[in-house]
Amino acid sequence: MNDASWYQFRAWVEYFGKVFGKITIAVPPAYTSQECSNCGVIVKKSLSQRTHSCQCGCEMDRDHNAARNILRRGLATVGHTGGLMLDMGNAWGDGASTVVGESLPQQALS
Ligand SMILES: [Zn+2]
Repeated sequence: MNDASWYQFRAWVEYFGKVFGKITIAVPPAYTSQECSNCGVIVKKSLSQRTHSCQCGCEMDRDHNAARNILRRGLATVGHTGGLMLDMGNAWGDGASTVVGESLPQQALS
């Protein structure tokens, strides 16, 4: 996908997040597929390789592994900011920030 498509996708996700009262956090996407969500080691894999299989014994669908990495990065952002102001980071190149409600910590941990 080109950059414009990703920007559009993010804009939609953030829009629906607001509409439905859900928190959205953009995280740096680098290595979310390659990194082992269990031990943190980089496990190189091609796009056609659908299974994450690490020397630590962690084996799961590659998308499941990536989802766990993305969730951890998102929650780490919440912890560092105290939940009132989220730095959306430079993952998408614009450094935009989003103000969120006071109920964030409860929602993020539930
Ligand atoms: Zn591992």
